[in-house]
Amino acid sequence: MYVLQQHITEHGLVETDGNILISGFGTKESLYTYLISTGITIPPDNHKLDVSPKYFLAIWNSKFKHVYCEGDEPKCPTCGKLENEIAKLKRTDPLYHKLCAEREQHLSKVHTQYQYSVHLQEQAHSGAYNWWSIYGDYKGALEIPKTIGRNIIFESKALLKVHYSGFLIDNKDIFYYYLHPEHWSEDSNTVISTLHLLLSQQTNLPEEIRLIFDRHGTNQSNLVQAYFEWLVRFEKVFKRIEYNTTVAYHGKSRMDQGNSPITLEYQHSEKFSIAELAEGVNKCGGHKGYSSVALWDWEDFFKGKIRGKLSQIRPKS
Ligand SMILES: [Zn+2]
Repeated sequence: MYVLQQHITEHGLVETDGNILISGFGTKESLYTYLISTGITIPPDNHKLDVSPKYFLAIWNSKFKHVYCEGDEPKCPTCGKLENEIAKLKRTDPLYHKLCAEREQHLSKVHTQYQYSVHLQEQAHSGAYNWWSIYGDYKGALEIPKTIGRNIIFESKALLKVHYSGFLIDNKDIFYYYLHPEHWSEDSNTVISTLHLLLSQQTNLPEEIRLIFDRHGTNQSNLVQAYFEWLVRFEKVFKRIEYNTTVAYHGKSRMDQGNSPITLEYQHSEKFSIAELAEGVNKCGGHKGYSSVALWDWEDFFKGKIRGKLSQIRPKS
């Protein structure tokens, strides 16, 4: 597993409490696919690397227990570390009670945040407030081409994994999904581009939005903060943006209630393109699906029609 070690060393990977999170990869399988695609073929002992995904996972799970991908269980390094240490201690040890209190505090924070998210949803549903509550989360990849009962031989063996950047506007009870290929990953770029598309597609906007996103290193980057500042200070689209992130790895996401119709629709139909996947999302009541637009050129992305449209629909002060 020299390859995995090399990848961890060379890339800026997040390390918390001795655990390493490989950011940008939902699953170990997707990291495997990535590593193979980078053409790393010769490990240091000069044996050709022709490991199967199964072998790769078996070695990872036995030798690299402290290295996680985003979709892995157990997810929370803080909980994992506390539980490990508590298990080693006797109840009479003063440290035991200290760590238990720490764990309680951590879980209480998780609970408070979840409650706040539900509170925002309830207030939004009441219709008594002039702000919107928007919940953002990702849906794991679905693969295309997807056939049913036919064995088509495709020229390309690799399937395309498509990610769903999802938003739930509580005030409207509508789920919006922006579909893009997996290699775009969940980063500041996709967070900003998809949120911007969401806002641009509205026919009116409130003076304030309250966002709750999955905690993710890239969700909290300066780029995302700068985008919010731009909306408020320069474009004056909103008077206020409240930005909350859930406690990492504890997201019992409210988006989950929206994901199952999409998965069901996917299971029962053939899909050959991102556009067809998006069409499938539209077939599910209360769901809207779009092919996402890549944000390759920041200036062009914001200067174009999208920015003009957003300025038109901003609330009149
Ligand atoms: Zn935790």
